[in-house]
Amino acid sequence: MNGTLYLCATPIGNLGDITGRVLQTLNEADMIACEDTRGSLRLLSHFDIHTPMTSYHEFNKYDKAHTIIGMLKEGKNVALITDAGTPVISDPGEVLVRMCREEGINVTSLPGPCACITALSLSGIPGRRFCFEGFLPHDKKERAFVLTELKRESRTIILYEAPHHLKATLSVLYETLGDREIAICRELTKRFEEVKLTTLCEALGFYEENEPRGEYVLVAAGRDPEEAASEERRKYEELTIEEHVKQYEDGGMDHKAAMKQAALDRGIPKREIYNALHKT
Ligand code: SAM
Repeated sequence: MNGTLYLCATPIGNLGDITGRVLQTLNEADMIACEDTRGSLRLLSHFDIHTPMTSYHEFNKYDKAHTIIGMLKEGKNVALITDAGTPVISDPGEVLVRMCREEGINVTSLPGPCACITALSLSGIPGRRFCFEGFLPHDKKERAFVLTELKRESRTIILYEAPHHLKATLSVLYETLGDREIAICRELTKRFEEVKLTTLCEALGFYEENEPRGEYVLVAAGRDPEEAASEERRKYEELTIEEHVKQYEDGGMDHKAAMKQAALDRGIPKREIYNALHKT
């Protein structure tokens, strides 16, 4: 019988946050796959865990996944941990989980610390609807694509950032999103935990004077839906009614549907569109 892959969340700072289930699984597993064996050794030694370890990281995620799948097929139980927090969340694990799914190998998750959720809950920014972007991509094209998407985003936006990139990221967010509310969440669960609820403009000023230190999660307010709606309306008001309807027809809509959509966009009755188009 196949073994099970256990996805184990580990503390993001405070060792007291490890769960009882994770400790038991790490003790009982045949193997612990971890991102950095030296870093994880500190964690495991702290809890007096002596299970054998193997490395599983970004640079061996395909080859090593085959080896781990082999162990699971031999009936061994494998626990996957990363340097901190929940596997897969801006961390290795996705490829291995996918392969297990494809091979019909059981995978289970032992939930626990995760920096993005900890930050969101602490931020004071609405948490009902949110999107998690992780780290902004370094590749210029990918980054431009993500930023264009974020510009339209009305949900709360969560990002990870390293201290040496924080100022540049705040600056690009300011250029893209304008001045928005942002919670800068630092050193979560650690001694110097701090949440600064501010605006992008104020934050830029602050970090001109103060060098960023520690680990950061950024929680930015989404685009104000009222503002988005009035911006859309302004965009349509620049078009004549004829141009507006034609735009939809050119996109493949029939005349009636195009008139209906234009009326909706402009917040006016359909009859007004009809009268404008068919006046003699
Ligand atoms: N898998 C992890 C999780 O579940 O949150 C995230 C790993 S990602 C490689 C590391 C990033 O998470 C850091 O650069 C930082 O943005 C964020 N992070 C991790 N621990 C944090 C902490 N204690 N305080 C603030 N941010 C943290």
